[in-house]
This record gives sequence, C-alpha cells and structure tokens, in this order.
Amino acid sequence: MGLIENAKDAAKLVQQIGNLELYEKLVSMQTDAITMLDENWKLKDENRSLKEKIEEQRKLLEISEDMEYVQDGGFYVKKSEKNDGKSIPYCPLCWTVNKIAAPLNPGSAIGFYACNIHKSQYHTAAYREHQRQSNEKLNKRTAPLTPWS
Ligand SMILES: [Zn+2]
Repeated sequence: MGLIENAKDAAKLVQQIGNLELYEKLVSMQTDAITMLDENWKLKDENRSLKEKIEEQRKLLEISEDMEYVQDGGFYVKKSEKNDGKSIPYCPLCWTVNKIAAPLNPGSAIGFYACNIHKSQYHTAAYREHQRQSNEKLNKRTAPLTPWS
C-alpha cells in the first residue's frame, strides 16, 4: 500500500476516534506527502533529462576525440575509421559549427569532395595536381600555332 493510501486509512481511523486535532494533523501530513511525491516526480524527470544530456555530451566527446583535422583537403576524418583502412572525409563546417559528423560527397575526380548542406568544396593536393596536369595537356592541345612551332 502506498503512502497516500496509508495516510487516508490513518485519517479514517483517527476520524473514528474523534480526535479532531489528530485528524487535522494527518490531513496536513497527507497534503505534505502529495507535495513530496509531486516534487519527487519532478526530480526524477529532471534527473532523467540530465542523464540524457550527459550521455549526449559523452557521445559528442567520444566523436570529438576520434575526429582528426586533415590539412590536405581541410576536412576531418575519424581516427578509428582511418585505422580500419577507411577514408571518409567529414565536413569541417558541419562538425565545428553544428557538431554533426556529416560525410562529404566524393566528386568525379580523385580528391574532390563537397558538402551538400553547406555547398562547400574541398580539394586535396592530389586533386590540384590532377587539375594542373589536365590543364597542361589542354593548353598544349589548344596552344595556337606560331611560326616557330
Ligand atoms: Zn557541411
């Protein structure tokens, strides 16, 4: 039997005895008990909410410790994934601003990545070198003929 039910039963018994003062004390205690139960419920709810926030922070910290900035490209990778032989770049804006690990989309050329959310692009040295070589070939092909060529 719960606290409130016990208090109600006690109040009934005291009422039968006819001691008004004792009866009033019991009713007052019953009210206090209801207030305490209500407060207890609120504290449990607050406690649950705080535990959830701690868990969120713990997960965020775990990802934070796993994230590694890659100078070549200017994006992030996860150390754990790198150790597993995976190469997944993460958007630096999504991570630093929104604390979301959003993988970048690879482009058609090697070393080219883009974030669909930020519409930002990231190029590695390999991409720039590939572009440079492509431009060189293109320039050679389209170079105008000179009297000396
Ligand atoms: Zn982004």
